[in-house]
Amino acid sequence: MVQKPKPSDPNLIVKVSPRGATRLKSGHVWVYRSDIVSAEGVPPGSLVLVTDHRGQTLGSALYSSSSQIAIRLISRDPVADLPALLRQRLAQAIAYRERLIHDTNAYRVIFSEADFLPGLIVDRYNDILSVQILTQAMDAEIVRDTLISELTERLHPASIVERVAPRVRQLEELPPRSSGLLEGDKSSTMFAMNGVQFHFDALEGQKTGAFLDQRENYAAAAQYGHGEALDVFCYQGGFALHLAKRCSHVAGVDSSRLALEVADQNAALNGREIEWIEANAFDLLKDYSSSGHFYDTIVLDPPAFAKSKREMDAAMRGYKELNLRALKMLRPGGFLVTCSCSYHVSQSDFLEMLAASALDARRELRLVEVRGQSKDHPILLNVPETGYLKCVIAMVS
Ligand code: SAH
Repeated sequence: MVQKPKPSDPNLIVKVSPRGATRLKSGHVWVYRSDIVSAEGVPPGSLVLVTDHRGQTLGSALYSSSSQIAIRLISRDPVADLPALLRQRLAQAIAYRERLIHDTNAYRVIFSEADFLPGLIVDRYNDILSVQILTQAMDAEIVRDTLISELTERLHPASIVERVAPRVRQLEELPPRSSGLLEGDKSSTMFAMNGVQFHFDALEGQKTGAFLDQRENYAAAAQYGHGEALDVFCYQGGFALHLAKRCSHVAGVDSSRLALEVADQNAALNGREIEWIEANAFDLLKDYSSSGHFYDTIVLDPPAFAKSKREMDAAMRGYKELNLRALKMLRPGGFLVTCSCSYHVSQSDFLEMLAASALDARRELRLVEVRGQSKDHPILLNVPETGYLKCVIAMVS
C-alpha cells in the first residue's frame, strides 16, 4: 500500500534526463520512468517540482511511484497550493463547457490532461456526476475532498458516483476500492442529447455509461441518414436512436445482450421502433453482404481494435473487413459513417484503409465529413494522446 502523499510539500524534487526535459519543453506533459534521474524521498502521489539534470526548473507535476508515466506536469510554474490550483482548473473546465457545449445535459466536464487535470475524468449525466480517478495523486484524500466539494458547489448534482477501474488501481499500487456513490443516493437518471432521451445507470454498463465523445457525430449522422439504416456495434443505441428521426427502418447490431436491453428501453423512451440484433458483427456482415442485403445508411463504431502499437496490423485488417463489407452493402447515394477509437490508428491510416476498401469494393467514395471527438473531449495539440476518435462520413456512388 502507498504512503499518504503530502501534496503540498514544495521541497520535493524530481530530476529528469535531458530526453525527459526535451519532451516537457516540446509541450508534452508526461515523463516516463526511464527518464527519471532521481526522485529521492518523494512519496507516491506527491506534487513535485521538476528540474532538468542541471537543476533548472521545468514546472510542477504529479508523481506516480509505480506507473510507467512517472510525471504528469500540472503547471509550467512552481505550484505552492495544489487545492487552490485544482479549484481554478475545475472552474476553467466548467466555463469552457458552458461556452461550447449545447443541446445536451450529458457531457464530459473534466478530460484529464486536456483540462490540465491529469488523472481525473468527470462526466455529467443530467443530475449525476460520474468520476474516475486514475492516478495516485488524484486519489489523495485532500485532492478527493477538494474535487468533490468544488464539483458539488459549482454543478449542484443530485449525486456523485465513482467508477473504479480495478486494473488502473492495481497499476498505480492503490488499495482496492469499489465503484459506488460518493455523495447523494441517486444512481440512475435520464439524460438528453440532440433531443434524444437516454437511460443512465451509474453503476452498470460499459465505460462511464454512454459514449459522450460521439455526441456531435450522432447529430452529424442524423443529418445524412436516410432510408434503411444499420448501426453496427450499436451498444445502447446512440447512433440508431438518432438515425430513427430520419430513416424509414433502423436496425442495431451488438454482441452484448445487456447493451441491447438498454437500447430497447431507450427506443421506447423515444417512441421509436428499432430492430435490435444480437450477433457478432463480423459474422453478420459477412452473412448479410453475401446474401444480398442492402442499406442506405450504415454506421460502423467498433471497440478499439489496436490497444497497443503491436496490434496495429490485426486492427487494420479488422477495420478493412468491416468497411469493405459495409461498402458493398450500400445502395448508390448511401452514406457510410465509420469510426475508430484506437489512438494508435491515425486519421491518415484510417483514411488510407477506407480508400483501399473502396477500391476493393469497386465503389466510388466521396468524403463528406472527417470528424473527431466532441468538443467536451478537447485535444491538446502537443499531447497527441488526448485525441483518439475518428469518424468519417462518406457517400458512395
Ligand atoms: N456506437 C456505440 C458505442 C459502441 S462501443 C455508441 O455510440 O453508443 C462498442 C460496442 O461493440 C460495444 O457495445 C460492444 O458490446 C460491441 N462489440 C464488441 N465486439 C463485438 C462484435 N464482435 N460484434 C458485435 N458487437 C461487438
